[in-house]
Amino acid sequence: MSERDETNMQEGAAASGANSVDETAPSAERAEEKNISFADLGLDEKILRALTEAGYESPSSIQAECIPALLKGRDVLGIAQTGTGKTAAFALPILQRIDLNQKTAQALVLTPTRELAIQVAEAFALYARRLPGFHVLPIYGGQSYGIQLKQLARGAQVIVGTPGRVMDHLERERLSLADLRVLVLDEADEMLRMGFIDDVQWILEHTPAERQTALFSATMPDAIRRVAQNYLLNPEEVKIRTATQTVAATRQSYWQISGLHKLDALTRILEAESELDAAIVFVRTKLATEELAQKLEARGYSAAALNGDMNQQARERAVEQLKSGKLDIVIATDVAARGIDVPRISHVINYDIPYDAEAYVHRIGRTGRAGRTGAAILFVSPREMRMLRTIERATRQPIERLVLPSHQEVTDRRIALFKEKVSKTLAGEDLDFFDALIGEMTAEQEVAPERLAAALAFLAQQERPLRLEEQAFGKQPRFEQSGERGNRSRGERPERGERPRRERPPRPEFAGEVNEDDRGNAVVMARYRIEVGRAHGVTPRDIVGAIANEGNLPSRLIGRIDLFEEYSLVDLPNDLSQDILQTLRSAWVRRRQLNLAREDGGAPQRREGFPPRSHAPREGREGRSPSNTFGAPRPYRPSPPGERSFRRREPR
Ligand code: ADP
Ligand code: MG
Repeated sequence: MSERDETNMQEGAAASGANSVDETAPSAERAEEKNISFADLGLDEKILRALTEAGYESPSSIQAECIPALLKGRDVLGIAQTGTGKTAAFALPILQRIDLNQKTAQALVLTPTRELAIQVAEAFALYARRLPGFHVLPIYGGQSYGIQLKQLARGAQVIVGTPGRVMDHLERERLSLADLRVLVLDEADEMLRMGFIDDVQWILEHTPAERQTALFSATMPDAIRRVAQNYLLNPEEVKIRTATQTVAATRQSYWQISGLHKLDALTRILEAESELDAAIVFVRTKLATEELAQKLEARGYSAAALNGDMNQQARERAVEQLKSGKLDIVIATDVAARGIDVPRISHVINYDIPYDAEAYVHRIGRTGRAGRTGAAILFVSPREMRMLRTIERATRQPIERLVLPSHQEVTDRRIALFKEKVSKTLAGEDLDFFDALIGEMTAEQEVAPERLAAALAFLAQQERPLRLEEQAFGKQPRFEQSGERGNRSRGERPERGERPRRERPPRPEFAGEVNEDDRGNAVVMARYRIEVGRAHGVTPRDIVGAIANEGNLPSRLIGRIDLFEEYSLVDLPNDLSQDILQTLRSAWVRRRQLNLAREDGGAPQRREGFPPRSHAPREGREGRSPSNTFGAPRPYRPSPPGERSFRRREPR
């Protein structure tokens, strides 16, 4: 195990030890109520000791049921929500049953994401801290092969990995599963959703038939049920009803978007929520994570983005910083935030509504960890109310309507904090030097001390004015909405009977997607070309900045950006006003004029049919092909149910 792992392990232990009260067991229906202890489950002394050191007092329900079955060698099918303690449920029996003298892979745990792979590996290390000679190795896409090969060569009894990378190592025969005794599929439904199920089955086919298999999943879609039937042998089925339990410790509310930008609503909440420690803010796109992080930073918050485009190191750093308090807010996409376990997170803000109730439960599971209470706030546009009701039904919990802290309340709170700061300074600082200085200044300026104090107060609060400015709608230019004014936001499928109204028939080849403006109205997007590209040193951030500032467009309406050598393509509203078009034509980025033009040649609606013109460089103007090619634009197509789980491969 690397030094880093060991540090983490210790931190983990310290963190868990700090809240080693009864409440730490994750499941409300705790085995402790039935007076079952870890020792009763038949675990060895060394493991029991590690658990005590980790601050675990009693097993959670899933642990109480799975551990004895797995110790007996039975296959297990575990159905339980996030936060029920599944990791220990399979890790502890594995640790007890492996041969520490042998360095070959004896257990393999498959997880849907790198984050989870790392977290599960860390949990193994924590539970195994009294087992000398134990090695666990996380392997996942994106990490350099060099490191992984070295670690594989060194040997580890437990491998925790994402399906793609594990398969890759197996195919290249760098990983042997000849000695494999236990295989665990963790978060199987998530692996299905992410399109890994074929890889998982391939791996199952390439492991010894006499292995023991455990499958854990929050839900049991048919595909997972089939995997269980095909690959589990007479499994012990353990079902923990926790849909409601997971969220029980979480105060849930929603804010119906109206009259205020989401960003302003968010900052009001961040300011006025008194019990806020750390927050995770969920958005739908990677771009939005960056944008929102920047905006919050500009407003004085220590915020950072967490998304799948960031390299592993950067992501780990963000999570570590959130843990240690260097960061207070992380803006994340669902996938990037999956499995994050940071007890400090007191608030989950669903800035963009999740795609389904399950994603919601996963999101809010990031708070209320380790027995603490948490708050979850959901931003909902009027046309998303249906999703809100779906979530309420699925979690069997009402979500209360939140009244945003008023303008006055925020101002009051800022004033109160300011006063508090001043009185602390009066009480705690040596002010003699300043006393003298003020005396001197009142004399020189011939002003009353109150007036002087007022000037200093002004200076002191300049960065963050005490009086909140009203930031309402109306500052943005109007751009005409196109015919499609549907009920659909990006990626969300129209509900039955609610087909978006269109004035023109849909054109499947249309490259644009549908974004939302701040009022939650759908805005049809189109591709535009700008004459500045990678060769000029431009970044997507520059482009967003220029278009947002020059065109006075909310960045929400600046969609996908693709950089090519000599030019770039950017998604903007289909019907930009002539004014904005004119401004953007002559705007500059990196000393080059944008010369913004419709990628399809200018006509707002093209007539030619499928296939559309490709985005190949225009003749005579480009020296090279785009470095970031997509031959033909992706046809826009609302995802039918069940198909949203597009196949996502990890980078190899
Ligand atoms: P799941 O995989 O079901 O989402 P985890 O295994 O990640 O749940 O556990 C959630 C949290 O609960 C972790 O912080 C873990 O350390 C803690 N935990 C698990 N089992 C116990 C226990 N028996 N007592 C106290 N804390 C526990
Ligand atoms: Mg888990």
